[in-house]
Amino acid sequence: MRLNADTGRCVGAGQCVLTEPTVFDQCDDGVVVLVINRPEGEAAQRARHAVALCPSGALSVTEEVDDG
Ligand code: SF4
Repeated sequence: MRLNADTGRCVGAGQCVLTEPTVFDQCDDGVVVLVINRPEGEAAQRARHAVALCPSGALSVTEEVDDG
């Protein structure tokens, strides 16, 4: 999975950071910053949850084909 964050849509609610602080952060004005854009394991599960919780629809997930 690859996370995408549309900073133009982010309203700075911070829900993502509360849900998975190893993946999401906020800059000084509250806009989301992706710390990791390809999380794995439990962080990936929580990141998916954060995507669902985001009130502005700023977060999305792109599924990637595992070519390994
Ligand atoms: S939950 Fe959504 S609106 Fe809130 S800081 Fe994260 S990306 Fe922005």
